[in-house]
Amino acid sequence: MKFRQHPFGWVPAAERRHVTRAIWRDGDEIAALCGEVVVAVDTTESWFWGTCEPCNVEAHRIVGVPMPGARRRGTGSR
Ligand SMILES: [Zn+2]
Repeated sequence: MKFRQHPFGWVPAAERRHVTRAIWRDGDEIAALCGEVVVAVDTTESWFWGTCEPCNVEAHRIVGVPMPGARRRGTGSR
């Protein structure tokens, strides 16, 4: 059985590196964790785009890893 290591993955799209739960390929329209629907751009260059902050925060929350230097938001569980 093949599982991805994490329940999500990074996807470069709209000049940001977003996070998605979808399995995607170049050109796919995917729903990012930040709520945006973006078109995946799989190029060498695109992987150097800046991190989408809301996606990053959400991804940390999913796996239960505290954000480095995160402010406490009082959202508590998950
Ligand atoms: Zn995003």
